[in-house]
Amino acid sequence: MQITVLAGGVGGARFTRGLLDALPPDGPDDPPSVTVVGNTGDDITLVGLRVCPDLDTLLYTLGGAVDEAQGWGRAEETTAVARELAALGVGPEWFTLGDRDLATHLARTRWLAQGLTLSQVTERLAARWGLPQQGVRLLPATDTPIETHVVVDDEEGGERALHFQEWWVRHHAALPAHRFTVAGLAQASAAPQVLDAIRSADLVLLPPSNPVVSIGIILGVPGVREALRGTRAPVVGVSPLLGGRPVRGHADACLRPLGVEVSASGVAGLYADFLDGWLVDTADDPGTVDYPSGLRVRSLDLLMRDQEGAARLAGAALELGRDLLGATAGRG
Ligand code: GDP
Ligand code: CA
Repeated sequence: MQITVLAGGVGGARFTRGLLDALPPDGPDDPPSVTVVGNTGDDITLVGLRVCPDLDTLLYTLGGAVDEAQGWGRAEETTAVARELAALGVGPEWFTLGDRDLATHLARTRWLAQGLTLSQVTERLAARWGLPQQGVRLLPATDTPIETHVVVDDEEGGERALHFQEWWVRHHAALPAHRFTVAGLAQASAAPQVLDAIRSADLVLLPPSNPVVSIGIILGVPGVREALRGTRAPVVGVSPLLGGRPVRGHADACLRPLGVEVSASGVAGLYADFLDGWLVDTADDPGTVDYPSGLRVRSLDLLMRDQEGAARLAGAALELGRDLLGATAGRG
Protein backbone atom coordinates (compact mmCIF):
# COMPACT_ATOMS: atom_id res chain seq x y z
CA MET A 1 0.00 0.00 0.00
CA GLN A 2 1.47 3.31 -1.13
CA ILE A 3 0.36 6.19 1.08
CA THR A 4 1.07 9.84 0.36
CA VAL A 5 0.66 12.40 3.13
CA LEU A 6 0.61 16.20 2.66
CA ALA A 7 1.88 17.69 5.90
CA GLY A 8 2.62 20.88 7.78
CA GLY A 9 4.62 20.88 11.00
CA VAL A 10 3.48 19.66 14.39
CA GLY A 11 0.00 18.30 13.54
CA GLY A 12 1.29 16.69 10.36
CA ALA A 13 4.31 15.14 12.07
CA ARG A 14 2.38 13.71 15.02
CA PHE A 15 -0.25 12.25 12.70
CA THR A 16 2.41 10.71 10.44
CA ARG A 17 4.17 9.10 13.39
CA GLY A 18 0.78 7.71 14.43
CA LEU A 19 0.30 6.42 10.89
CA LEU A 20 3.55 4.45 11.08
CA ASP A 21 2.33 2.92 14.35
CA ALA A 22 -1.08 2.13 12.87
CA LEU A 23 0.22 0.46 9.72
CA PRO A 24 0.60 -3.30 9.94
CA PRO A 25 4.18 -4.50 10.45
CA ASP A 26 6.18 -4.85 7.24
CA GLY A 27 5.29 -8.03 5.41
CA PRO A 28 7.64 -9.37 2.74
CA ASP A 29 4.85 -9.06 0.15
CA ASP A 30 3.51 -5.65 0.91
CA PRO A 31 5.80 -3.38 2.92
CA PRO A 32 4.18 -0.06 3.80
CA SER A 33 5.54 2.84 1.85
CA VAL A 34 4.77 6.34 3.01
CA THR A 35 5.68 9.48 1.10
CA VAL A 36 5.39 12.69 3.08
CA VAL A 37 5.15 15.92 1.10
CA GLY A 38 6.15 18.75 3.45
CA ASN A 39 5.20 22.41 3.41
CA THR A 40 8.06 24.79 2.60
CA GLY A 41 6.16 28.09 2.77
CA ASP A 42 7.37 28.63 6.37
CA ASP A 43 11.00 28.49 5.24
CA ILE A 44 13.12 31.46 6.20
CA THR A 45 16.75 32.59 6.06
CA LEU A 46 18.02 33.60 9.53
CA VAL A 47 21.61 34.67 10.31
CA GLY A 48 22.48 33.44 6.85
CA LEU A 49 21.07 29.96 7.44
CA ARG A 50 18.20 28.34 5.58
CA VAL A 51 15.63 27.11 8.07
CA CYS A 52 12.76 24.79 7.04
CA PRO A 53 10.56 24.59 10.15
CA ASP A 54 7.99 22.09 8.90
CA LEU A 55 10.48 19.70 7.29
CA ASP A 56 12.57 19.84 10.46
CA THR A 57 9.57 19.11 12.68
CA LEU A 58 8.81 16.08 10.50
CA LEU A 59 12.45 14.92 10.63
CA TYR A 60 12.80 15.31 14.38
CA THR A 61 9.41 13.79 15.19
CA LEU A 62 9.82 10.74 12.95
CA GLY A 63 13.46 10.47 14.06
CA GLY A 64 12.47 10.32 17.74
CA ALA A 65 14.42 13.48 18.53
CA VAL A 66 11.66 16.07 18.90
CA ASP A 67 10.90 18.10 22.01
CA GLU A 68 7.62 16.32 22.79
CA ALA A 69 6.07 19.01 24.96
CA GLN A 70 6.78 21.78 22.49
CA GLY A 71 6.07 19.69 19.39
CA TRP A 72 9.00 21.15 17.43
CA GLY A 73 12.75 21.58 17.94
CA ARG A 74 15.14 19.09 19.47
CA ALA A 75 14.72 17.36 22.81
CA GLU A 76 17.33 18.28 25.42
CA GLU A 77 18.17 21.39 23.44
CA THR A 78 20.50 24.18 24.62
CA THR A 79 20.74 27.77 23.41
CA ALA A 80 24.35 28.83 23.94
CA VAL A 81 24.78 30.09 20.38
CA ALA A 82 21.48 31.99 20.41
CA ARG A 83 22.42 33.75 23.66
CA GLU A 84 25.82 34.68 22.27
CA LEU A 85 24.17 36.01 19.10
CA ALA A 86 21.78 38.09 21.21
CA ALA A 87 24.73 39.54 23.14
CA LEU A 88 26.23 40.48 19.81
CA GLY A 89 22.99 42.15 18.80
CA VAL A 90 22.47 39.75 15.92
CA GLY A 91 18.78 39.01 15.65
CA PRO A 92 16.03 38.34 15.25
CA GLU A 93 15.35 38.14 18.99
CA TRP A 94 11.89 36.55 18.38
CA PHE A 95 13.23 33.36 16.80
CA THR A 96 15.55 31.16 18.87
CA LEU A 97 17.66 28.58 17.09
CA GLY A 98 18.80 25.82 19.44
CA ASP A 99 22.37 24.55 19.34
CA ARG A 100 21.56 21.06 18.03
CA ASP A 101 18.98 22.45 15.64
CA LEU A 102 21.61 24.86 14.30
CA ALA A 103 23.65 21.93 13.03
CA THR A 104 20.74 20.98 10.77
CA HIS A 105 20.56 24.51 9.35
CA LEU A 106 24.34 24.72 8.92
CA ALA A 107 24.41 21.43 7.04
CA ARG A 108 21.42 22.36 4.89
CA THR A 109 22.85 25.77 4.04
CA ARG A 110 26.21 24.28 3.14
CA TRP A 111 24.69 21.58 0.93
CA LEU A 112 22.43 24.10 -0.81
CA ALA A 113 25.49 26.32 -1.42
CA GLN A 114 27.23 23.31 -2.97
CA GLY A 115 24.40 23.10 -5.47
CA LEU A 116 22.22 20.35 -4.03
CA THR A 117 18.47 20.80 -4.37
CA LEU A 118 16.29 21.03 -1.27
CA SER A 119 15.03 17.52 -2.13
CA GLN A 120 18.57 16.15 -2.10
CA VAL A 121 19.36 17.98 1.13
CA THR A 122 16.18 16.65 2.72
CA GLU A 123 17.07 13.12 1.63
CA ARG A 124 20.42 13.42 3.45
CA LEU A 125 18.75 14.76 6.57
CA ALA A 126 16.12 12.00 6.41
CA ALA A 127 18.92 9.42 6.27
CA ARG A 128 20.41 10.96 9.42
CA TRP A 129 17.08 10.44 11.19
CA GLY A 130 16.41 6.92 9.94
CA LEU A 131 13.32 7.70 7.88
CA PRO A 132 14.08 5.27 5.01
CA GLN A 133 14.31 2.37 7.49
CA GLN A 134 10.78 3.23 8.61
CA GLY A 135 9.52 3.13 5.04
CA VAL A 136 9.23 6.92 4.86
CA ARG A 137 10.32 9.17 2.01
CA LEU A 138 10.20 12.89 2.88
CA LEU A 139 9.86 15.31 -0.04
CA PRO A 140 9.65 19.09 0.09
CA ALA A 141 6.60 20.23 -1.87
CA THR A 142 8.92 22.23 -4.10
CA ASP A 143 12.65 22.79 -4.53
CA THR A 144 11.97 26.38 -5.59
CA PRO A 145 12.47 28.70 -2.59
CA ILE A 146 9.03 30.04 -1.62
CA GLU A 147 8.01 32.16 1.36
CA THR A 148 4.57 32.83 2.77
CA HIS A 149 3.99 36.51 3.54
CA VAL A 150 1.14 38.06 5.49
CA VAL A 151 -0.32 41.41 4.46
CA VAL A 152 -1.33 43.55 7.46
CA ASP A 153 -2.04 47.23 8.19
CA ASP A 154 0.94 49.52 8.57
CA GLU A 155 1.08 52.60 10.81
CA GLU A 156 0.35 55.06 7.97
CA GLY A 157 -3.02 53.56 7.06
CA GLY A 158 -1.51 51.51 4.24
CA GLU A 159 -0.46 47.90 4.08
CA ARG A 160 2.76 46.01 4.64
CA ALA A 161 3.80 42.42 4.15
CA LEU A 162 5.79 40.48 6.69
CA HIS A 163 7.21 36.98 6.66
CA PHE A 164 4.78 34.37 7.93
CA GLN A 165 7.19 33.39 10.73
CA GLU A 166 7.36 36.96 12.02
CA TRP A 167 3.56 37.19 12.01
CA TRP A 168 3.14 33.79 13.66
CA VAL A 169 6.03 33.64 16.12
CA ARG A 170 6.64 37.30 16.95
CA HIS A 171 3.06 38.59 16.76
CA HIS A 172 1.25 35.31 17.60
CA ALA A 173 -0.98 35.88 14.55
CA ALA A 174 -2.62 38.76 16.45
CA LEU A 175 -2.15 41.36 13.70
CA PRO A 176 -5.29 40.98 11.56
CA ALA A 177 -4.28 39.53 8.20
CA HIS A 178 -5.75 40.93 4.99
CA ARG A 179 -4.36 38.15 2.85
CA PHE A 180 -1.54 35.69 2.40
CA THR A 181 0.83 35.85 -0.53
CA VAL A 182 3.49 33.32 -1.39
CA ALA A 183 6.65 34.75 -2.92
CA GLY A 184 7.96 32.49 -5.67
CA LEU A 185 4.94 30.17 -5.78
CA ALA A 186 3.70 31.01 -9.30
CA GLN A 187 7.12 30.19 -10.79
CA ALA A 188 7.65 27.16 -8.57
CA SER A 189 7.40 23.61 -9.78
CA ALA A 190 6.64 20.56 -7.70
CA ALA A 191 9.75 18.78 -6.45
CA PRO A 192 10.69 15.55 -8.27
CA GLN A 193 8.38 12.63 -7.39
CA VAL A 194 5.77 14.80 -5.67
CA LEU A 195 3.14 14.70 -8.42
CA ASP A 196 3.87 11.07 -9.14
CA ALA A 197 3.54 10.21 -5.44
CA ILE A 198 0.04 11.70 -5.49
CA ARG A 199 -1.02 10.18 -8.81
CA SER A 200 0.29 6.68 -8.13
CA ALA A 201 -0.73 6.45 -4.46
CA ASP A 202 -3.25 3.93 -3.16
CA LEU A 203 -4.33 6.42 -0.52
CA VAL A 204 -3.69 10.14 -0.01
CA LEU A 205 -3.99 11.53 3.52
CA LEU A 206 -4.32 15.12 4.73
CA PRO A 207 -3.35 15.18 8.41
CA PRO A 208 -4.72 17.83 10.77
CA SER A 209 -2.43 20.55 9.49
CA ASN A 210 -3.12 24.23 9.01
CA PRO A 211 -5.46 24.36 5.97
CA VAL A 212 -4.22 27.76 4.77
CA VAL A 213 -0.53 28.16 5.54
CA SER A 214 0.50 24.47 5.47
CA ILE A 215 -1.81 22.35 3.27
CA GLY A 216 -2.94 25.46 1.36
CA ILE A 217 0.63 26.26 0.34
CA ILE A 218 1.29 22.71 -0.88
CA LEU A 219 -1.98 22.86 -2.87
CA GLY A 220 -0.76 26.10 -4.46
CA VAL A 221 2.34 24.48 -5.96
CA PRO A 222 1.55 24.21 -9.67
CA GLY A 223 0.28 20.75 -10.56
CA VAL A 224 -0.47 19.51 -7.05
CA ARG A 225 -4.18 20.29 -7.03
CA GLU A 226 -4.61 18.77 -10.49
CA ALA A 227 -2.76 15.63 -9.35
CA LEU A 228 -5.13 15.34 -6.37
CA ARG A 229 -8.16 15.74 -8.62
CA GLY A 230 -6.79 13.18 -11.04
CA THR A 231 -5.51 10.50 -8.69
CA ARG A 232 -7.42 7.23 -8.47
CA ALA A 233 -6.55 7.05 -4.78
CA PRO A 234 -9.15 8.09 -2.25
CA VAL A 235 -8.17 11.36 -0.54
CA VAL A 236 -8.96 11.32 3.18
CA GLY A 237 -8.47 14.30 5.48
CA VAL A 238 -8.57 14.98 9.20
CA SER A 239 -10.10 18.22 10.40
CA PRO A 240 -7.68 20.50 12.28
CA LEU A 241 -10.68 22.24 13.86
CA LEU A 242 -12.70 20.66 16.66
CA GLY A 243 -15.97 22.35 17.49
CA GLY A 244 -14.88 25.36 15.44
CA ARG A 245 -11.55 25.79 17.20
CA PRO A 246 -7.97 24.87 16.39
CA VAL A 247 -6.35 22.53 18.90
CA ARG A 248 -3.24 24.68 18.88
CA GLY A 249 -1.98 27.48 16.70
CA HIS A 250 -4.12 30.07 14.96
CA ALA A 251 -5.87 28.39 12.04
CA ASP A 252 -8.88 30.63 12.77
CA ALA A 253 -6.78 33.75 12.10
CA CYS A 254 -5.71 32.18 8.78
CA LEU A 255 -9.21 31.20 7.62
CA ARG A 256 -10.95 34.52 8.35
CA PRO A 257 -9.11 36.58 5.69
CA LEU A 258 -10.17 33.94 3.14
CA GLY A 259 -13.80 34.43 4.13
CA VAL A 260 -13.99 30.75 5.03
CA GLU A 261 -16.13 29.64 7.95
CA VAL A 262 -13.96 28.59 10.89
CA SER A 263 -15.32 25.06 11.13
CA ALA A 264 -14.66 21.48 10.05
CA SER A 265 -17.20 22.06 7.29
CA GLY A 266 -15.52 25.30 6.15
CA VAL A 267 -12.15 23.54 5.89
CA ALA A 268 -13.71 20.64 3.96
CA GLY A 269 -15.02 23.22 1.50
CA LEU A 270 -11.44 24.29 0.75
CA TYR A 271 -10.71 20.73 -0.40
CA ALA A 272 -14.10 19.99 -1.97
CA ASP A 273 -12.75 19.45 -5.50
CA PHE A 274 -10.66 16.42 -4.53
CA LEU A 275 -11.60 15.27 -1.01
CA ASP A 276 -13.37 11.90 -0.68
CA GLY A 277 -13.35 11.23 3.06
CA TRP A 278 -13.31 13.59 6.05
CA LEU A 279 -12.76 12.77 9.71
CA VAL A 280 -14.37 15.24 12.07
CA ASP A 281 -14.72 15.47 15.83
CA THR A 282 -17.83 14.18 17.58
CA ALA A 283 -18.63 17.86 18.22
CA ASP A 284 -18.95 18.31 14.43
CA ASP A 285 -21.00 15.19 13.73
CA PRO A 286 -22.56 15.06 10.23
CA GLY A 287 -25.91 14.47 11.97
CA THR A 288 -25.83 18.08 13.13
CA VAL A 289 -23.49 19.82 10.65
CA ASP A 290 -23.77 20.08 6.84
CA TYR A 291 -20.81 19.02 4.71
CA PRO A 292 -20.15 19.29 0.97
CA SER A 293 -22.31 16.73 -0.80
CA GLY A 294 -20.68 13.48 -1.89
CA LEU A 295 -18.17 13.63 0.94
CA ARG A 296 -17.96 10.58 3.22
CA VAL A 297 -17.82 12.08 6.73
CA ARG A 298 -17.10 10.09 9.87
CA SER A 299 -16.94 11.50 13.40
CA LEU A 300 -14.75 10.42 16.31
CA ASP A 301 -12.61 11.93 19.05
CA LEU A 302 -10.02 13.84 16.97
CA LEU A 303 -7.66 14.87 19.75
CA MET A 304 -4.15 13.39 19.57
CA ARG A 305 -3.48 13.35 23.33
CA ASP A 306 -0.42 11.16 22.97
CA GLN A 307 1.30 8.88 20.47
CA GLU A 308 -1.36 6.21 21.01
CA GLY A 309 -4.09 8.74 20.29
CA ALA A 310 -2.31 9.73 17.09
CA ALA A 311 -2.11 6.07 16.03
CA ARG A 312 -5.82 5.65 16.74
CA LEU A 313 -6.63 8.71 14.62
CA ALA A 314 -4.39 7.54 11.78
CA GLY A 315 -5.97 4.10 12.04
CA ALA A 316 -9.41 5.66 11.55
CA ALA A 317 -8.13 7.53 8.48
CA LEU A 318 -6.74 4.27 7.07
CA GLU A 319 -10.03 2.51 7.69
CA LEU A 320 -12.02 5.23 5.95
CA GLY A 321 -9.52 5.09 3.08
CA ARG A 322 -9.94 1.30 2.80
CA ASP A 323 -13.73 1.62 2.81
CA LEU A 324 -13.54 4.21 0.04
CA LEU A 325 -11.10 2.00 -1.90
CA GLY A 326 -13.58 -0.85 -1.59
CA ALA A 327 -16.35 1.41 -2.88
CA THR A 328 -14.19 2.48 -5.86
CA ALA A 329 -13.28 -1.15 -6.62
CA GLY A 330 -16.97 -1.99 -6.46
CA ARG A 331 -17.64 0.68 -9.07
CA GLY A 332 -15.29 -1.33 -11.26
P1 GDP B 1 2.43 23.75 12.22
O1 GDP B 1 3.13 23.85 10.89
O2 GDP B 1 3.33 23.35 13.32
O3 GDP B 1 1.52 24.88 12.53
O4 GDP B 1 1.49 22.49 12.13
P2 GDP B 1 0.39 22.07 11.12
O5 GDP B 1 0.38 22.81 9.84
O6 GDP B 1 0.49 20.58 11.09
O7 GDP B 1 -0.97 22.55 11.76
C1 GDP B 1 -1.34 22.47 13.05
C2 GDP B 1 -2.86 22.24 13.00
O8 GDP B 1 -3.11 20.96 13.54
C3 GDP B 1 -3.64 23.25 13.80
O9 GDP B 1 -4.68 23.80 13.01
C4 GDP B 1 -4.21 22.45 14.97
O10 GDP B 1 -5.50 22.84 15.32
C5 GDP B 1 -4.20 21.05 14.44
N1 GDP B 1 -3.98 20.08 15.49
C6 GDP B 1 -2.99 20.07 16.42
N2 GDP B 1 -3.15 19.01 17.26
C7 GDP B 1 -4.27 18.35 16.83
C8 GDP B 1 -4.97 17.18 17.29
O11 GDP B 1 -4.60 16.54 18.26
N3 GDP B 1 -6.06 16.80 16.58
C9 GDP B 1 -6.51 17.50 15.51
N4 GDP B 1 -7.59 17.07 14.86
N5 GDP B 1 -5.90 18.62 15.08
C10 GDP B 1 -4.80 19.03 15.72
CA1 CA C 1 4.30 25.33 9.86
